[in-house]
Amino acid sequence: MTAITFIGLGNMGGPMAINLVKAGHSVTVFDLSADALAVLSAAGAEVAPSAIAAVANANVVVSMLPADKHVLSLYFGEQGISSFIPKGALVIDSSTISAEAARELAKGLTEQGVRFIDAPVSGGVAGAKAGTLTFICGGDNADVEEARPLLECMGKSVFRAGEHGAGQVAKICNNMLLGVLMSGTAEALQLGLANGLDPKVLSEIMLQSSGRNWTLEVYNPCPDVMDNVPSSNDYNGGFLVDLMLKDLGLALATAEQTNSSTPMGNAAAALYQKHSEQGFGRKDFSSIFKWFEQGK
Ligand code: NAD
Repeated sequence: MTAITFIGLGNMGGPMAINLVKAGHSVTVFDLSADALAVLSAAGAEVAPSAIAAVANANVVVSMLPADKHVLSLYFGEQGISSFIPKGALVIDSSTISAEAARELAKGLTEQGVRFIDAPVSGGVAGAKAGTLTFICGGDNADVEEARPLLECMGKSVFRAGEHGAGQVAKICNNMLLGVLMSGTAEALQLGLANGLDPKVLSEIMLQSSGRNWTLEVYNPCPDVMDNVPSSNDYNGGFLVDLMLKDLGLALATAEQTNSSTPMGNAAAALYQKHSEQGFGRKDFSSIFKWFEQGK
């Protein structure tokens, strides 16, 4: 039986680890938050007293932490776990971090005789709870295939984008496009509103025309056009403005490293930056709609 260790039990990692337990796996968990550990203990996971203790017998280690510095410090910091992971084990990091950090992880872990894939996710907290995430992996094909059955306990799609770091690159390409699409859709809807159009009718027209896109299909940013989306719930729940901003920052940093031109990504990042500064950081990213309100 595969012994799985899961570190980082926040909004995403908590429900993902619970789905592994529900699928019948033996899961040992660790987080800095006692509350997060209590939830997992109640769900049937074994709680370890430290990250080092958590990985002692692991065949697979999954991590789901906020950003580069947390992930690099977990593996290679003063209390780093990399040298305590059994040789031959597979590390799956699902955090959204820079491709550069993912490659650094791959190199450092390989030196310790541990295999690694980057496997960031798309699908948000709702997808983590429902077990419908999309995993976007980078690393050796054999390692991705070995991880696949576990990832399928937490998600519905598993892609391999390429070598180490490629999962992170694909993820931020997608999220940069999402930031651009959401801003553009909000701008178009507000232009229609300012000219007396009914946003429901305009949305319907654009859905059947060449402006059709994912935000119009399932995530309309204008309040009361759709039920059960953050815009109809005062922009609560969903994908936070500050997380979109983080992903746009990663995209722009990656673009700079490869001298890629990203004027649309730059524009979306500038908008989301100002929006966050105006107090919307903890609201859903579709709240960028309010940025385009008439007269602003
Ligand atoms: P979160 O802040 O809710 O959870 C992070 C968890 O990591 C916390 O419980 C924290 O205590 C724990 N942690 C931090 N450092 C630790 C350490 N050294 N050892 C053990 N535990 C530690 O974040 P989240 O929303 O779950 O996001 C996790 C990752 O997933 C991020 O990289 C984020 O960008 C990405 N992501 C989030 C979403 C989303 O909608 N929330 C969607 C896709 C991807």
